[in-house]
Amino acid sequence: MTDRPYALAIHGGAGTILRSKMTPQKEAAYLDGLRTALAAGEAVLKEGGAALDAVTAAVCALEDNPLFNAGRGAVYTTEGRQEMDACVMDGRDRRAGAVAGVFGPKNPVRLARAVMERTPHVCLIGPNALELARAAGLEFGDRDYFFTQSRWDALQKTMEMRAKGEESDDPARRHGTVGAVACDRAGHVAAATSTGGMTAKLPGRVGDTPIPGAGTFADDATCAVSGTGHGEVFIRWTAGAEIAARMRHRGESLAEAARHVVMEDLGPNDGSGGVIAVDAKGNLALPFNCEGMYRGSVREGDAPVLAIYGD
Ligand code: ASP
Repeated sequence: MTDRPYALAIHGGAGTILRSKMTPQKEAAYLDGLRTALAAGEAVLKEGGAALDAVTAAVCALEDNPLFNAGRGAVYTTEGRQEMDACVMDGRDRRAGAVAGVFGPKNPVRLARAVMERTPHVCLIGPNALELARAAGLEFGDRDYFFTQSRWDALQKTMEMRAKGEESDDPARRHGTVGAVACDRAGHVAAATSTGGMTAKLPGRVGDTPIPGAGTFADDATCAVSGTGHGEVFIRWTAGAEIAARMRHRGESLAEAARHVVMEDLGPNDGSGGVIAVDAKGNLALPFNCEGMYRGSVREGDAPVLAIYGD
């Protein structure tokens, strides 16, 4: 064990409420949710725990909070259902686990981890994914548990606008996601991401979140990344893998590589959103190309930093 300072970053999605619509009460509630999740992840790292456990703990806290689009509070498909995607990846050996389109487990990120730890596969969907959740003893919620009025209203509004041929330009109405990346004291990195996807997505649509190398990535040799934004573009530009590739092949720093992918690759190609990223030295980068990204970070010995908008 090299015993270096740990580092942790979290995001609650790039689909932030527009600054013009934010109220002090709402802002306080979002910051509170971020603070709680950051503390849950940091508690693991402080005890000398693994990055993988820290990102799982942080994402569970965000999934449990109905303000964020993951777990409780997930957005609705065109048919008024919730279909959740999640992924974990361990930088020690690039093991990964993911689920797509699941409804039931309160913490889809735990199910993603069960896929990684209990099966020889990377991604599971359908009834067998839920069977695994039961076998792993995961807690389930019902429709009432997952229901939030604001997400339901967002679906109605989006469908109304679509019927008129208009596209919603409100990022809070459109999407969101939660995620965490960490580097532990042993210098291992991990990433976890969980989402309800995009409001009024087609049933069966799978975004970038459960796709290793797109919305989630971790490799000790380079970095751990969790993305949020227009998932289709993150998939086509292999966002997470591209950041790692720029570091590995071009010798770019984490900050340079992450900035390039978010600002030059995703941004100009309809890929609104951002990433949080950490390398095995504990450097952090949190670039985004839109109005805001709910986010927080902490490095051992420093005070936590929470933010929503850009400068
Ligand atoms: N990336 C997510 C998805 O496409 C949504 C988001 O982060 O806003 O499913």
